Amino acid sequence: MTNRLKKNCSPAPLAGLFYLLLSCTMTRKNHYSFVIDYFEKNMPVAETELVFEDPYELLVATILSAQCTDKRVNMTTPAIFKKYPNVQLLSKAGFDDLFPFIKSISYPSNKTKHLIGMANKVVEQFKGKIPMTVEELMQLPGVGRKTANVVTSVIDHQPNMAVDTHVFRVSKRIGLVPQTAATPFAVEKELIKNIPEALIHKAHHWLILHGRYVCLARNPKCGQCGLQEVCHYFKKENSADN
Ligand code: SF4
Repeated sequence: MTNRLKKNCSPAPLAGLFYLLLSCTMTRKNHYSFVIDYFEKNMPVAETELVFEDPYELLVATILSAQCTDKRVNMTTPAIFKKYPNVQLLSKAGFDDLFPFIKSISYPSNKTKHLIGMANKVVEQFKGKIPMTVEELMQLPGVGRKTANVVTSVIDHQPNMAVDTHVFRVSKRIGLVPQTAATPFAVEKELIKNIPEALIHKAHHWLILHGRYVCLARNPKCGQCGLQEVCHYFKKENSADN
């Protein structure tokens, strides 16, 4: 048997062919239903791994989490929240007071400035209360669309989808969004369009946690994943032509 034939007769390509045929008959709605059912059964509890007590603490932790792991942020925030337990006290902090708490996190100078700026704006413009719309949150220093989506989704269960590196990668691999969706905003719009509104806040965590622990960037653990039969990436990797 030639190497080519051996390759085509191995179980993985045959599985790929089966899944390819399955996907041809699967509508977008069925595809989403399969993925949602899978996560509902296998990840019934899906929450942020950031540790927080209230909207102020979640906002601070989320600003700090940009380009940084939740684990590292969680090691840092207890001391910050002890010294600055609310937005009013944080607004009075000087750069040199706050910086030492943040220096072990990525981009410490910018994040120190952003936290103090955010606190001042919340005190001056929002009467000391963390605003709870994406548009208002995005007016705060250090808060982009992703952070605003996280805060409104986690605190208020608003149907907003924060697209971080895991959500971006995993949703494209599974085939929930087309490969042509080139920006986080394009991915966000596609997911919002197709996931039932009541599940959007949960789906955000499903995709993040799946990307963090199973569908890893370099070596996805496909053998441990129950999404093989609908996953475009898996089918491509295991197709007979590969
Ligand atoms: S089958 Fe593999 S690539 Fe597809 S979602 Fe699962 S882990 Fe990721």
